[in-house]
Amino acid sequence: MIKHCQYHCPKCQKSLMKGDKVELNYKRVSGSEKGRIHLSPEPGNYEFITFPKVTFNKGERVVFICSHCDSDLSSEKNKKFAELKMMVNDFIFFEALFSTVHGDKRTYIITQDEVDSYGDADGEVHDDFENFSFDADVV
Ligand SMILES: [Zn+2]
Repeated sequence: MIKHCQYHCPKCQKSLMKGDKVELNYKRVSGSEKGRIHLSPEPGNYEFITFPKVTFNKGERVVFICSHCDSDLSSEKNKKFAELKMMVNDFIFFEALFSTVHGDKRTYIITQDEVDSYGDADGEVHDDFENFSFDADVV
């Protein structure tokens, strides 16, 4: 189990850590409401705090945005996931993809040779992750 990792923006490479949480900005797809969100760095742990406090609807998609460079962090592999850079140490990093659909608690950690998944899709399954192409053999 991977814990205590540092998350960085894949675009500007800056640290997204705020204390022991991952701090991002978010934008609701429905409407233009924006805010700040703190996520747990533990894969599959979907506890979060928003500032100001909001309640997301089940199945609602939220766009996560880097608080440093304002980049949309939606994964190019699948727009329903946000992609962060997970630094294990100075030399090793993984891609961390987590679902941006509220209620879908899936996180994928893409390492050099495998995909680890954490959490479950709660109820409704958003299962187009299988269509991802992983170049696992190309390192
Ligand atoms: Zn950034």
